Amino acid sequence: MSEGHFSSGAADRVLAQVDAAAGEIVDFTCELIRIPTVNPPGEAYADCAELIGGALAQCGFDVRYLPAEGLPEHTAAHPRVNVVGRRSGRSDRPRVHLNGHFDVVPAGGGWTVDPFGGIVSDGRIYGRGACDMKAGIAAALFAAEAIRRAGIDLNGSIDISGTVDEESGGFAGVAWLADRGHLTAGNTDYVIIPEPLNVDRICVGHRGVYWYELTTHGRIAHGSMPFHGVSAIDHMSLVLDRVRRDILPALALKTTAMPVEPPEARHPTLNINGVQGGQPVDGIQTPCVADWCRAVLDRRFLIEEGLETARGEIAALLERVAEETLDFRCELRDLMIVHPVRTPDESPLIAALGANLQRVLGRSGSLIASPGTYDHKHVTRIGGIADCVAYGPGILDLAHQPDEWCAVEDLVNATKVIALTLLDLTDSR
Ligand SMILES: [Zn+2]
Repeated sequence: MSEGHFSSGAADRVLAQVDAAAGEIVDFTCELIRIPTVNPPGEAYADCAELIGGALAQCGFDVRYLPAEGLPEHTAAHPRVNVVGRRSGRSDRPRVHLNGHFDVVPAGGGWTVDPFGGIVSDGRIYGRGACDMKAGIAAALFAAEAIRRAGIDLNGSIDISGTVDEESGGFAGVAWLADRGHLTAGNTDYVIIPEPLNVDRICVGHRGVYWYELTTHGRIAHGSMPFHGVSAIDHMSLVLDRVRRDILPALALKTTAMPVEPPEARHPTLNINGVQGGQPVDGIQTPCVADWCRAVLDRRFLIEEGLETARGEIAALLERVAEETLDFRCELRDLMIVHPVRTPDESPLIAALGANLQRVLGRSGSLIASPGTYDHKHVTRIGGIADCVAYGPGILDLAHQPDEWCAVEDLVNATKVIALTLLDLTDSR
């Protein structure tokens, strides 16, 4: 059993309180879904922060609203309002921070129910954000509340935050909280992000991201005499062909030791986001050789590789092409860099969540890592907190899909796992 110094009676009382609150947990998730916090552009953030802040206050938290002052995306039309609640028990530390982003991606087409209706049917909560990740926010809040209703005074404290903009990088959300000192190793011991990664999986980090832009420069000439010019499009296609022939096979030979899902993403990957060059194809055409071409590439790198490997491979390729190609001119520009993160294997978070997941679900869980990224990067890279994982209700594959849903059973079970883990982590010292 995993209750640390708490009697199994305390754990049983908490589990009973979660079961008794099941209806409230579902209702709160539905209320959150009904606020259409669509990002972009970042609709109704202040309303959603207030709903979460009000609920936190009712559950005994001291609540602060923390708008991302000073950032260009924090505007009068679309304010970036974060909310953080704090509830201390018999001591302030250890402090466990439960963080959920409340922005959602646009609904898109293909829905058979109202994406912002907050509808429950056949044991499922439907709506944009149902799994990613308004159910997770409800699970965090009611995990803490079940402990309070069970009459347990923690030997530590709980922070719960609702933050903005995860879907667009999290810079006004978790990154801002960490940067401004609200979420750092100096004040926080453990962070759980209840993202939807399946209720039996603990997510221990993600790969790195290197987005870069390539620009080839040509020389304009009359299109009837292309031999007088240099085509930037020809040179870009040469580069992209060499990327396919030289880089992609080498990437397929590298494999990370991190448990990235799906397994195909255990290799580094490279995607061409877009290519533009010469004249706009839907404009009036004139006979000219293209004197410019640009492409944006998305290279996902492994923690074992590091950024310099990813950047070095394309820089070396451009040098080779330049040596072999007359009049070749190309620039490489960094667009976005996210370093990979990995929770230490010995983190008490992994042990506690794993044991409690086993207890609640009756089966053992597994570790996974994300092929993309999530707010873990900011917690660890800016906040300096190594003990961070993602664990929450909902099925990963349903995120961002039409008819997104979260099973009520998953929601209740994840709430239980998080509640028992709060008991363990605050009593572990
Ligand atoms: Zn999410």
